[in-house]
Amino acid sequence: MSKKKSNFLRVKCGDCGNQQVVFDHAASKVECIICSKTLVQPKGGKSKIVAQIIEVID
Ligand SMILES: [Zn+2]
Repeated sequence: MSKKKSNFLRVKCGDCGNQQVVFDHAASKVECIICSKTLVQPKGGKSKIVAQIIEVID
């Protein structure tokens, strides 16, 4: 699993419990669609996921 691969992740917002699907190589910040909490921060390549990851979607 060292191969560079991008995935979609299902994450859960820590504030409101909303679940949404995000891209783990997002080029820009991703916010919760319900409460606008930051879920993903771009980090020059693989994004930093700042929400709870529920599932990895290939
Ligand atoms: Zn939220």
